[in-house]
Amino acid sequence: MSASPLASASADVPRAAVDGAPAPAASVPGATATPETATGKGAVSETPDVVETPDVAGARDGIGRGGADESRGEDDARLAAVRRYEILDTPVDGTFDEIVRLAMVVFDTPIATVGIVDADRVWFAAAEGLDGVTQVGAEPGLCASAVLADGPYVVTDASTDPRTLDHPLVRGELGLRFYAAAPIVTAGGHRLGTVSVIDRRPREVTDTQTAVLTRLAALVAHHLDLRLANLHAVRAERRLREEADERAEASAALAVRLREVAAVERAADRPALCQLGTAGQQCTQPAELKIADGWGDSAWGCTAHAEEALFVAAVFIANKELGGLSVYLNRR
Ligand SMILES: [Zn+2]
Repeated sequence: MSASPLASASADVPRAAVDGAPAPAASVPGATATPETATGKGAVSETPDVVETPDVAGARDGIGRGGADESRGEDDARLAAVRRYEILDTPVDGTFDEIVRLAMVVFDTPIATVGIVDADRVWFAAAEGLDGVTQVGAEPGLCASAVLADGPYVVTDASTDPRTLDHPLVRGELGLRFYAAAPIVTAGGHRLGTVSVIDRRPREVTDTQTAVLTRLAALVAHHLDLRLANLHAVRAERRLREEADERAEASAALAVRLREVAAVERAADRPALCQLGTAGQQCTQPAELKIADGWGDSAWGCTAHAEEALFVAAVFIANKELGGLSVYLNRR
C-alpha cells in the first residue's frame, strides 16, 4: 500500500509549535568589550604584568590592540552559550547560596557572588553582602575579565592595580579593593561566569583559597550542565507527548469521517454484524462500513476493523455517495 489513509487525515492537523531556541535577549551595541587583551588574560600574579592603564573606551573601540575581530567572535560564541544555558534572569532560588557562603568562609570576605557574564552586565545567580543588588555592569577588570581567565583571577588591591583602578565598583560607592574569582567553565568549555569574593580592603590569598574557589566554580558549572540536560529532557518528553496527542487527534478525526461515511451508506445489503473478524473469529460489532478492493471483493466491517483494513490492505471505502474507488484514488 503506497499511502495510508491516515496520512491524508493527519495532514490537516496543525502541528503545535515546538520549543525552539530561546529568543535572544537584547544586547547593547558597543558594550561587548573583550577585555582580555587589555587586562592580561589569565593573570594570577599579585603584581600584574600588564602595566598600561586600562582605558575602557579604548578597549571598547578595540584601539591599540590586535585580534579584535577574533576576540569579538570568541565573545559572541561565549554569549551564545550563555543564552543556551537559559540561566540569565531566572528566579533566584537559592541553588547557589551555599556556594557563595562557603566562598565567604574560605576567604573571610563580606561579599561573594555567583555571576553570569552577559554582554553588558554581570547577573548574579547568587550574591551575599550586596544588599539585594541583582546585577552590575560588565566593565573590564573584574568579572568580565575573570570569566576569560584560564585560572583564578586575583586583584589584591584594586585601587593600585591597573586592571581595576578605573572600575566603577572600585572608584564608586562600593569601594572594592580585593577581588578574587574563578571562571565557571562548563563541560563543553563554555565560559558562563565567575564565582567571586570581594572585600573593601586589600587582601592576600593562599593557593588553598584559590584552589577552593576553582572547585566551587566547577560545582556551579556541573550544576548548570545538569540543569541544561534536564531542561532538554523535559522538552523532549513534552514534544513526544504533543506528537502522541496529534496522532490521537488524527485517529479520532478519521474515525469520525468513517462514521459519517457509514451513516450515509444505506445499502440494503448491510449485514447485522462486522464481517472482518480476526483469524476467522466472528466480530460481534455492528457492520458500519463497506470496503472493497480493486478486484471487486467487498465486505462490511465495524469501524475498528474497517479502519484496520484501510491501514494495512489495498482497500477503499465502497460508498456510492462519495464515488467509491475514484474518490479514494483521487484523494490527496
Ligand atoms: Zn469488526
